[in-house]
Order: sequence, then C-alpha cells, then structure tokens
Amino acid sequence: MRPLSHSSISLYRECPQKYKFKYIDKLPEKPKHFFSFGHSVHTALEFFYGVPALPAPSLEEVLGHYKKNWESKGYKDTKAEAEYFEEGQRILTSFYQKHIGDFKPPLFAEYGFTFEVDGVPVTGKVDRIDKLENNKIAIVDYKTGKAFDLSRVKEDSQLTMYQMACEELLGLKVDSLTFYHLPSLTALTVIPHSQGQITNLRKTIVQVSESIQEKSFDPKPEERKCSWCDYKPLCPVFKHLYATQDQGASAAFDGDLFADHSQDENLAALVDRYGKIKEEAKEVEDRIEDVKGQILDLLKKKGYVRAFGKNYEVSAAHEEKWDFKDKEQVLEVLRQAGFYDKVLAPSAPQIQKLMKDPGLPPLLRMKLEQLGTLVQHPVLRCKKVDEE
Ligand code: SF4
Repeated sequence: MRPLSHSSISLYRECPQKYKFKYIDKLPEKPKHFFSFGHSVHTALEFFYGVPALPAPSLEEVLGHYKKNWESKGYKDTKAEAEYFEEGQRILTSFYQKHIGDFKPPLFAEYGFTFEVDGVPVTGKVDRIDKLENNKIAIVDYKTGKAFDLSRVKEDSQLTMYQMACEELLGLKVDSLTFYHLPSLTALTVIPHSQGQITNLRKTIVQVSESIQEKSFDPKPEERKCSWCDYKPLCPVFKHLYATQDQGASAAFDGDLFADHSQDENLAALVDRYGKIKEEAKEVEDRIEDVKGQILDLLKKKGYVRAFGKNYEVSAAHEEKWDFKDKEQVLEVLRQAGFYDKVLAPSAPQIQKLMKDPGLPPLLRMKLEQLGTLVQHPVLRCKKVDEE
C-alpha cells in the first residue's frame, strides 16, 4: 500500500471518491495558483534555511532563487501571476529582514519522513525543525493562505503527525509546534499536542487505511466542496449533468441504430457555433482597441478632443476612477459621516465575492443567506476543448 500523508488522509475523509480519482486512478487535477504560489515561497525558504553553517544566504540570493524556481501554473492570467510574484517577493523580503538578525541553520529544512503507524506507512515533509538548547526540537510549518487563529494550531492533525514522526524517528522530544503565517509574518506557537490527540490520529490513520484497502470509495457530496472539485464531470453523483466530448464529436455513431442522436448533434453544432462567434467577437474587440489607440494617439498629437470621418465622429473624454490604498480608513471616514450604508449596498461586488468564499464562517453564511434570496442568471462559459 502506498504511504498515507496528511493531505491524502484529509482528502479521504473529505470525500473517498475524490481520493480514489486522485490517488488510485491518478487523474490529475487542474493546476491551482495557490499551490504554485505556496510552493514557490516554500522553495525559497528551504534555500534560505538550507545552508549547513553560517553565513546565511543574502537577500539577493534568496530572491534570485525564488525567481529561478517560480512556478507559473494555475494563474488566471499574466497580470494575476505578476501580482502574486510581487507578493512573494514582499513576503520573502519582510521575512528575511525580520529573521536575519537571529538566523541559525536549523536541524532540518524540509525534513522528509516515512514511518509506520500500527503497520500503516505514513509519509510527510516538515518545513523546518530547530534544535533548542534544552535538547528538544521546535517544529515549524509555513502557511501562505488565509490567516487563522491559535485554535487551529492547537487542533491541526498535520502538526500532531509531524510531532509523532519527529519524536519517533529523531528520538528527540518536541518542545513546540508552530504554524507560521507568512503573509502577516505571524508565528502561532503551541505546546506539543496531547497524548489523546496522538491516539485519535493513530486511530484515524488505521481506519482510513482499512477503508482504502476495503475499496470503500463512496462519494461524499457537499455543495461547496463539490463546486471546487475538478472530478465533478466524472463523479457518479454529477456525471449525468455533463455531456462527454465523444457525444460532442458530431455525436458519432456508437453502434446503437435506434438511439436518437439528433439532440446531441444539434447541441454539438450550437456549442461550436457559439465558440466560433465568441472568437470572432474577441478578434473584433482587439481590432477596435487597436484603432481606438491609434485615434487617441493622433488626437493627442493634434491637441483635438473631437474628430470626424465621413460617416462617424469621435470625441475623447476621461473616465475617472479612484483607487484607495487603506480601505479600512476610507470606510471609517464614511461611517463617521453617515455615508457608510450608501457604499456598502448588499449587492456590492465584494459581498457577492464573500458569499462565494468557502472560508466564510457557516454561521455568518447562514445569517446572510436568511437575509437574501439567491437569484440565478444563466451563464455560458466557453473555451476550446483542448484548453486547460
Ligand atoms: S464532486 Fe463531490 S462527491 Fe464527487 S468526487 Fe468531487 S467532492 Fe466527491
């Protein structure tokens, strides 16, 4: 049996069917920008702490390593990627400045382990292990996602697993466990997890392993979770909602003389027509932008704000938009002046975005849902069949 990891155990518990797609059938998921980003920053920190002895690498070397090993998969577009790249540089620079003063090479940077829990092979990687003067160790795991509080550090079984692995394999007692939230440079540290937590994790590992060996892979659907699942078109719960590419390929003859393929054929033809028109519209938009740029350049050179062709006229104007850096302060000023309600309409895009956020606390979501009605508008997304 392949070793279990913290993430594979979590995935099995979240949805056994999804575990099967990923780890047994080995079907790839779409690249996710947050994994690429996290990995790029982790790799740079591994380089920083990877020296066997002083001196520490310079900031330029750390940033150079970051740039060289940047992972660009999964970003929406080049603009989003550039923003994340800069954010990573900011994080690494601040981290370096905060910690270079007390830099000491750790006992391990990226400590990979494999051990057995009641006969079940378990594997993982600890970001950093520091050896302390009391001959104990401090375990540090970096996080680049959303902020969290101390209760997560006290409870998270990833840290319990690291504690178990390090104590067993290194023969050293754990003194502290830390999740280090990199974007805010906040290290949240707790004392070692309890024997009860260790016992519970051991039981979970054995239970998950047994269920996997019994080939228990039932889907565990849950609305928000499934909406993010790349395997949805293959999942037994949702498969019937998705026409396959084969059905679309001119609804090719499948040996069934009596099957009615006419609707599939119509649908396939309409899908292609829709995609083609969208492509043409994009080309036209690009041409409009190009001609618009040339006109604006000439208007500027001439000092005109209006010009005529034979059949059309154009006039130049400026659309203005304010960009506020400290949004909290702006909201406070508006709140004090009694204008807060005007800007914070419930239809504001930020609230819509919040409602889609899987990290929204369930109680808050429930309260907001009670206050509103979900209005659905049909949306038709379109891309080439061979695009990611
Ligand atoms: S769509 Fe939902 S139920 Fe199906 S595999 Fe994904 S998470 Fe599991």
